[in-house]
Amino acid sequence: MAEHRYGLGDHGPAVAEIRTKLVQLGLLPAVASQVDPLDAVFDQAVDQAVRHFQQERGLTAHGVVDAETYRVLDEARWRLGDRLLSYVAGHLTIGDDVSTLQRRLLELGFEVDRVDGVYGPATEHAVREFQRSVGAPADGTCGPATFKALARLSPIVTGGRADALRDSERIRRAGPGLPGKIVVIDPGHGGVDHGCSSHGLVESEIAFDLASRIEGRLAATGVRVFLTRGRENSPDEASRAEFANETNADLVVSVHVDEHLNPQASGVATYYYGTQGSDDMRSTLGERFAGLVQREIVARTDLRDCHSHAKTWDLLRYTKMPAVRVELGYVTNSGDAVRLADPGFRDVVAEAIVVAVQRVYLPPDLDAPTGVLQLGELIR
Ligand SMILES: [Zn+2]
Repeated sequence: MAEHRYGLGDHGPAVAEIRTKLVQLGLLPAVASQVDPLDAVFDQAVDQAVRHFQQERGLTAHGVVDAETYRVLDEARWRLGDRLLSYVAGHLTIGDDVSTLQRRLLELGFEVDRVDGVYGPATEHAVREFQRSVGAPADGTCGPATFKALARLSPIVTGGRADALRDSERIRRAGPGLPGKIVVIDPGHGGVDHGCSSHGLVESEIAFDLASRIEGRLAATGVRVFLTRGRENSPDEASRAEFANETNADLVVSVHVDEHLNPQASGVATYYYGTQGSDDMRSTLGERFAGLVQREIVARTDLRDCHSHAKTWDLLRYTKMPAVRVELGYVTNSGDAVRLADPGFRDVVAEAIVVAVQRVYLPPDLDAPTGVLQLGELIR
């Protein structure tokens, strides 16, 4: 399934499986009579259901079931109590049941990094703490007794999400100085994957060039900078996230440019981890960081402001630290293409991103208005 994509007009057993999952999620009406899997068709109704699902889950709503959408569809079937939950390094348990568990633990005042549906070490730790608090064996595995105990207790945390408060506290404790902080820059695509191209511009090359410009400027402020890829390779999104986690990065910036069939589409947008509707499935700091990057770029360039948005793309989801993905202009728009081709423009953008990184760490009383901090003031 991983290497296949299913969309409008496709048919066969894989489409039958997709239909079944959508029916289970209540996104597609069940068909009365049994249909031979070979005859299952990816029709308009399936297309609509897939788009709806993608929208709801913070994925790009293109209606095509690619590897990422398939995986998220598969994770969505789990309800808390359906299976035992535990942390197995190298083979993570992922699903809606884990999100429900994390939400419940947060409500009860236990620390999980955030609600992302991934049963990682932080979730296991929170489960052990919870088990200890109710006098149960603290084995870190969620079984029937733990499910029952979780259901019995009522929420104690009110007036602000515990994980968001903890994240802000972490930033405050990190202090405003940039020296010693670690930032991972992720140039999109690479290797044989060129991303989008138009007007003589190639996304993977622009991304790498921009990443190098950001790298140089950040390094000058004393930040330790790492790139997720070299000039010629292209790790997948999950590996890039893993790299950032292993590097213990404080922040991650992923650099892309966009394209559209409509040549009028233009502007810059930023993305952070989260889903539109749900307030707890969102990285508060990621949102703040994305907002700062967005505003600094808009203030320093004449790119159209396409705002910040929540998404659950792998890189945003699997990174443990605030991460932002920048889609810097459309190569398919002639105005944006002229800007993107200009080295001076790229320098301005690199500087905007460095300023945004600094502003994440500035307490409100030291913070400067958007567009006024200069790189020279940040260099030690
Ligand atoms: Zn891209």
